[in-house]
Amino acid sequence: MAVQADCVIVGAGPCGLFQVFELGLLDLKAHVIDALPNAGGQCAELYPDKPIYDIPAWPVIGAQELIDNLMKQIRPFHPTFHLGQQVTEVTPLDSPGFRLRTSAGTEFHTRTVIVAGGVGAFQPVLLKLDGIEKFEDRQLFYRVKDPSLHHGKHLVVLGGGDSALDWTLALADKAASLTLIHRSDKFRAQDTSIGKARVLAAAGRMRILAGHVHAYEQAGGRVTGLKVKTVTEGDVTVPVDHILAFYGLSPKLGPIADWGLNLNKHQIAVDTEKFETSTPGIYAVGDINYYPGKKKLILSGFHEAALAAFAIKHRLFPNEKIHLQYTTTSSVMHQRLGVETPKGGA
Ligand code: FAD
Repeated sequence: MAVQADCVIVGAGPCGLFQVFELGLLDLKAHVIDALPNAGGQCAELYPDKPIYDIPAWPVIGAQELIDNLMKQIRPFHPTFHLGQQVTEVTPLDSPGFRLRTSAGTEFHTRTVIVAGGVGAFQPVLLKLDGIEKFEDRQLFYRVKDPSLHHGKHLVVLGGGDSALDWTLALADKAASLTLIHRSDKFRAQDTSIGKARVLAAAGRMRILAGHVHAYEQAGGRVTGLKVKTVTEGDVTVPVDHILAFYGLSPKLGPIADWGLNLNKHQIAVDTEKFETSTPGIYAVGDINYYPGKKKLILSGFHEAALAAFAIKHRLFPNEKIHLQYTTTSSVMHQRLGVETPKGGA
């Protein structure tokens, strides 16, 4: 059964989230799909703890804090999130509108699509060993969905960032053994996590190796060991049941390039009145779009989302007059936002 919708937003980065808000003010409900398991796009994935200085009226705001605020701001409009699934197909329906399919097999029939796909869907950087991909989701994991799956196993965690360290700390006492392998002894994670891992290693509850994995051993159709060229201990083979690889995420434009939209290099060409693409009914906001003078900034995406929302409202309700209403004074806006109209207001 396809999900029926007026508006589907592809991408839950800051611009996709603000698009929910602008549509909500115009009484339009949105479904939001993102390939990642959490909302927030680049802000949450790439620089959650970094301060941003160019969000209007916020002299400084943390990137994750911005996302948390956006999530709070869109709460009155009850968007439906479909996370952890990539939109793979967008095709026209016979009736006006589009069919979207996702990697999780969900199908949407929607009258409009807003692509807020940023620099593309983030994909894990893969472990580059010949033939290792056939063990993916059996012995090789790029994401921990169910931690209990890894309890009692000989685990190798690869990487030196927060994900690698966080899962190392979470699983060290639950695993049969745990080895953390990073290319050097300089980690990129929070200092406190690094400190805790070193304490566990010193207590013999896990092992830290500086080096790189260059091959694996297998027997009976299973990976049994990883061969590591270490910086200090020479060649080492680490016995393994499960490999958790956290080499980071890299964005890939991916399927968006195949949706028949006019592109300018790797960005979707739009007009600057409606932010509509070459396919009427499909809009694009944020880093993913291109027009002369485009700047990949969050504030540009916010502006684009506001104008796109008006265009979408007009497309869906061509006979309705759409007035610009201030959130300060309009009782209609207050009703939609679920706030009280001050006495003497509106
Ligand atoms: P994104 O944040 O990229 O989000 C897009 C989302 O779409 C992603 O979550 C992705 O998984 C999803 N997606 C893509 N394709 C699909 C698909 N097919 N199916 C499902 N989901 C999909 N900007 C500023 O204004 N000020 C700053 O100070 C600033 N600092 C920055 C610092 C760093 C280190 C970086 C990397 C960027 C910075 N930026 C800054 C840029 C800013 O982060 C981007 O402009 C902003 O994130 C764009 O938002 P977006 O919603 O368009 O896209």
